[in-house]
Amino acid sequence: MELNCAVQKYAWGKVGSSSLVAQLSKANTNTEINEQEPYAELWMGTHPSGPSLISATNEPLLNFLQSSNDSLGQKEKQVFGPDLPFLFKALSVAKALSIQAHPNKAHAEQLFASRPDLYKDPNHKPEMVTAWLGPFEALCGFRPIAEIQFFLKEIDELASVVGKDACDQLAAVAADDVVSGSAALRKCFSALMNSSDESIAGSLERFQQRIPSLSSDKKESLVCELFCRIASDFPGDVGCWSVYFLNFVTLEEGQSLFLGPNVPHAYISGDCLECMACSDNVVRAGLTPKFKDIDTLCSMLDYQPGPVDRFTCHWTDEDEFCQVSAPPVPDFAMARLRLPVSSDVYQLPIRSSASILLVLQGHASTTIVDNSEKVVELRAGQILFLKAGQSMNPIKMNEQQQHQQEDLVIYQAFANV
Ligand SMILES: [Zn+2]
Repeated sequence: MELNCAVQKYAWGKVGSSSLVAQLSKANTNTEINEQEPYAELWMGTHPSGPSLISATNEPLLNFLQSSNDSLGQKEKQVFGPDLPFLFKALSVAKALSIQAHPNKAHAEQLFASRPDLYKDPNHKPEMVTAWLGPFEALCGFRPIAEIQFFLKEIDELASVVGKDACDQLAAVAADDVVSGSAALRKCFSALMNSSDESIAGSLERFQQRIPSLSSDKKESLVCELFCRIASDFPGDVGCWSVYFLNFVTLEEGQSLFLGPNVPHAYISGDCLECMACSDNVVRAGLTPKFKDIDTLCSMLDYQPGPVDRFTCHWTDEDEFCQVSAPPVPDFAMARLRLPVSSDVYQLPIRSSASILLVLQGHASTTIVDNSEKVVELRAGQILFLKAGQSMNPIKMNEQQQHQQEDLVIYQAFANV
């Protein structure tokens, strides 16, 4: 079944045709791109803030799932009830998203029960991000202790907002002492987050004024390019200082991270695919004009220091052309297919749960095994829903003009049960 999917035009999105989301959405729904508007996210799933529709009937996908008995897998239905457990997205990021963390399931339920005005969703939101077309930049998890000690020693302006007590406690921690390191980081980060707006703005301004006088080596060791980029987009925002607490990572195309509960993160720039539990549950820490629930944030964060590779999400070969990645949660897994232009027909593996497929590039065709024998064109922006156990007939690459030849690339999201 073909789907029409919703776009979110958040201000941080890439503008007009430069946005992958805009290009996919144009191809998906056959609507013109507005070159003045940001196209931030394409949502594929049933979340009420951006529900997907069945192209042929305009019926919401959720209605279809609830009215048909066999669309979701048995186990999927047992664990999650009559709805898709995941939300699949494409993102085009021009300007940093807010620094955020997502509560675990029990905490999400408790926040929703006690403050439904602020927390509109009782579900957890583990997420997996994969870079697509070019590098994708993000901040993710607390840096190794030695790096943060170095920054606090070198940047007096930051040390002054964090305060002497907290800085001294962190300076005394041995580089491999994760327990004391986490405790000291909690103290430093809480002190930073609880500082007054004036002292944050003043300290940022003083450091920005000092940067031009630094040697180029120093600028590089103090990640000044990144700091200045973020500070010019978010003047006076406490989140600018997070650059010195959180790992900065650049994912190359196809590389993925998995972010479990309470891991602080922010996406900085680039295009990516994201799969998550079906939720919009966010606790914010900066780089945003939105409300920051500082007490909740500081008490829930995972302060464990260390390099970013602990968040790497691996892919394993399923066959010659298809790979899968299954994060340590039941809500979702992903598969991806890269079929070379020269390929013969190819049979996509069958999933035991419902799935959503997004075609990112290439030209091919297939039919879906159901009552109709309608030919489905697989081209960028095509989004398909497959019922649990439903198969596609072998995919056949279309004849192409020489200069248009490209591999067929499809990402598929499904439940990890
Ligand atoms: Zn997130």
